[in-house]
Amino acid sequence: ALKITHECINCDVCEPVCPNHAIYQGVEIYEIDPDLCTECVGHFDKPQCQTVCPVDCIPLDPEHAETREQLMEKYRRLVNVV
Ligand code: SF4
Ligand code: SF4
Repeated sequence: ALKITHECINCDVCEPVCPNHAIYQGVEIYEIDPDLCTECVGHFDKPQCQTVCPVDCIPLDPEHAETREQLMEKYRRLVNVV
């Protein structure tokens, strides 16, 4: 999964582009639910939130490092085709 850092300026452009609805407005900044973020695997070649973020504040979350296979499995679980 990816995570949003405190450099987030709450511009709101990432939330609507997430195919998994993993991004939401938290208490101070936008946040990503790691259970829903597939790093866009299954939907797009590149993480869509990273593509649109104007301040480049959405790195990989080292606490939720996953292989491509694990991300694909999460994608299948989310779309119910396991
Ligand atoms: Fe959503 Fe993709 Fe960003 Fe993960 S990488 S939060 S799935 S847009
Ligand atoms: Fe924050 Fe970047 Fe999302 Fe804008 S696009 S809300 S700056 S994480």
